Amino acid sequence: MKNKVITAAAVLCATVLVAIIAFDFFMSASFSSSFIAMNTTVSADIKGLKAEEAYREISEELKWLDSFLLSRTSEESQIYKLNNGKTDIDPEPAKLLSSIKDIEEKSNFSFCVGLGQLTDLWGIGTGSARLPRADEISSAIKDAEKWQISGNTVDLPDGVKLDLGAAGKGIGCDYASDILQKYKCKSAVVAVGGSVLLHSTDKDEVFTIGIRNPKGDINEPAAIIEIKACCVSTSGTYERFFEQDGKRYHHIFDPSTGYPAKSGLQSVTVISSSGLVSDALSTACLVLGFEESLPLLKEFDAQAVFITDENKVMTTPDFEGLKIADSNFTLVN
Ligand code: AMP
Ligand code: MG
Repeated sequence: MKNKVITAAAVLCATVLVAIIAFDFFMSASFSSSFIAMNTTVSADIKGLKAEEAYREISEELKWLDSFLLSRTSEESQIYKLNNGKTDIDPEPAKLLSSIKDIEEKSNFSFCVGLGQLTDLWGIGTGSARLPRADEISSAIKDAEKWQISGNTVDLPDGVKLDLGAAGKGIGCDYASDILQKYKCKSAVVAVGGSVLLHSTDKDEVFTIGIRNPKGDINEPAAIIEIKACCVSTSGTYERFFEQDGKRYHHIFDPSTGYPAKSGLQSVTVISSSGLVSDALSTACLVLGFEESLPLLKEFDAQAVFITDENKVMTTPDFEGLKIADSNFTLVN
């Protein structure tokens, strides 16, 4: 009898052990792949029992988000329809546009999605980029800030076109985050162009992220940051530009002048719990410059790393976990 009890206990222990090992194995199952959406490569590295299902859904959802909500060129998209005379939109994009309007206002319109006409005029990144005449620029920025949203109705002043290029990739990270939570994924890194979602169910997990050397190769970090689950977006003057008569013109515009921002910064990396906020604020801060960005970042409880034109690296106060990775850069705060 005693032997039987011992045997039964041993079998139970072994079963529990096998179950624990199997659970751990499946939870650490992983899936990595990439696809194209939002004019960029989206790469995902996901850990969890349903990593592959989560990846498939992220891929479908981000392509849908691009084609049916955010794209300026897909005739099916809500933004395309607004830019072409429609005034009513679905509740989902209406909610996004309300959040965007709030960020525009708080950033004092250094982030402004009403710049569609200006980005078309310069054509940076299209192969037909040019330096527009001053009168073309002033007419393209006129009224850009004055678009309005009320409920599901959007009012675009004559000539104003929306361009969500400065926020779309961060919004993509927010959609991906919801899917990773739905599938209870353990940990993931999803990079949507310059916006990266770091997801973890372990509040202590630390991710190591490189901040690109603005004058170097994609795999040459100027600095390394160690951070917990969040969204990280970088805006850089090196991403898209053209040169004319020995002058370089980049793709992030100061909405008050209509010319490429001259804030003394080559890049800004913003860290936030929200993808939309990190993406929108990285663009805003690149326009505002270091000092003027600090109150805005504080308002959104976000942190940032700035790289100046002179290769100086600065952070928001109390930011920890940054290491310089290239001796051409100096940490100055
Ligand atoms: P990002 O790389 O997120 O900074 O976004 C840059 C893109 O956003 C540009 O290619 C333009 O399409 C658009 N853009 C440029 N300047 C601004 C601005 N000040 N506010 C909002 N969108 C902008
Ligand atoms: Mg942005």
